[in-house]
Amino acid sequence: MSFHLVDTHCHLDEESFGIDRDDVVARAVSAGVTRMVTIGTTVASSRAAIALAKSYAPHVFAAVGIHPNYVAQAADDDWDRIRELVREPGVVAIGETGLDRYWDHTPLAAQQDFFDRHLTLSRETGLPFIVHCRDAETETVAQLVATSKLGALNGLMHSFAGSLETARICLELGLYLSFSGMVTFKKSATLREVVATVPADRLLVETDAPYLAPSPHRGKRNEPGYTRHTLACIADLRGEPVEQLARQTTENARRLFGWTIAE
Ligand SMILES: [Zn+2]
Repeated sequence: MSFHLVDTHCHLDEESFGIDRDDVVARAVSAGVTRMVTIGTTVASSRAAIALAKSYAPHVFAAVGIHPNYVAQAADDDWDRIRELVREPGVVAIGETGLDRYWDHTPLAAQQDFFDRHLTLSRETGLPFIVHCRDAETETVAQLVATSKLGALNGLMHSFAGSLETARICLELGLYLSFSGMVTFKKSATLREVVATVPADRLLVETDAPYLAPSPHRGKRNEPGYTRHTLACIADLRGEPVEQLARQTTENARRLFGWTIAE
């Protein structure tokens, strides 16, 4: 393969990768997905992400944070742990954070409080944040807009599935939009419209593996190597050569995560 891809969002610590994680990472690398960011959702999973970044260097990097759905079960000092973990080697981002009104696991006010903590930590450390937004577009956008008054935002909207208007506002705020296998589903008409209009220098690709497997693997366990299916679909929707989009999205990821070394 003549190009490199970055899977900006996967969950390599998940149990479903327990038996064949080495093969999953090896398959990704041989499919051209030479970098992947594995995402923390709790303190334990953030620690696991850091350990995976160490084991699979230089291909795997870590994000640390507390997912909105896990905020309610976070211990009192969990946030202090995240603040410490952010300094560990291999950590390139903060999250995932954000708001989720689809699952009723955590009261919205508590989610907003933790979202704010992640955004503040991003500002303090200079590391980009990773936003999860499900059935909470209005609230998420409002909080991002309010926070942007305190300083420039540096982050990405993960598995973007919002409206054209939300995309417009996020882009105006300087954020990147990362697209998952959802764009490969024919039913995702709005999403396919959005992805065709995003400026090339703000576009990222991801799997969210083991979830959201792209067509033709839909319904199966997802893995980082499948990033190429999503990329090919987006290239098609945008009418761009696959190689060009691969180069562009990889360049975008490098810029966002502060990677200076060439692959
Ligand atoms: Zn995720």
